[in-house]
Amino acid sequence: MSEAAMEEAGEADAPAVYLQGIRRQYVQGAATLTILDEAELALWPGQSVALVAPSGSGKSTLLHIAGLLEHPDDGEVYIGGVPTTAMSDAERTQIRRTEIGFVYQSHRLLPEFSALENVMLPQMIRGLKRKEAAKRARELLAYLGLGERVTHRPAELSGGEQQRVAIARAVANAPRVLFADEPTGNLDPHTADHVFQALMQLVHATGVAMLIATHNMELADRMDRRVSIRDGQVIELT
Ligand code: ADP
Ligand code: MG
Repeated sequence: MSEAAMEEAGEADAPAVYLQGIRRQYVQGAATLTILDEAELALWPGQSVALVAPSGSGKSTLLHIAGLLEHPDDGEVYIGGVPTTAMSDAERTQIRRTEIGFVYQSHRLLPEFSALENVMLPQMIRGLKRKEAAKRARELLAYLGLGERVTHRPAELSGGEQQRVAIARAVANAPRVLFADEPTGNLDPHTADHVFQALMQLVHATGVAMLIATHNMELADRMDRRVSIRDGQVIELT
């Protein structure tokens, strides 16, 4: 699909992400494991949503499908109102680069590169000039309190600083939605709080939609909305 056609197909008031009738099964020998079964979820721009569910219940699977990293067996994933399942791999990759940010439990930064370069890379892959990418990377890192750390390599940063660089990298291309898979799972409570605040700050400042898988109920309670996975479906928690 051309960019113009995608613009036209996407509704201005569409959810940032809409999962419709998502099914995902894993075949393990003779057994078939149904992880998601007609799962539905709409994420709205500027909304922070916690995904709280026990280990093994399908949180990562849901994030990977919503983030176009994995195909559902059935159902549709709309990004900004645009259906994605029939797209080519190249089209999906393009959407992943421009509309979707991902933060993992471990930072997954490139060890040979500085914080600045790690945040520049996704922008340059998208086609930005080095100078423009560096400018935005500097601004983002400063915004996340890392202005004095731009030349450090990941190994020269603390766990919380590494995660904040990973967050800057995830939003470097101003995505429509940010997915975070247990982003504070490896951090002590104080550092986890700092990283969480960085995520919330970005939601409020940019209007990005955010879905965070977390076991931390205290953090979940500070978000706009809480959902879980039960019997393969997404349910609202009150
Ligand atoms: P969570 O993130 O909530 O811990 P996951 O989405 O990682 O859960 O996994 C959900 C279930 O699916 C688990 O039982 C897991 O073992 C299974 N699973 C995940 N990925 C695969 C895979 N590639 N092949 C087979 N089973 C998988
Ligand atoms: Mg997981």
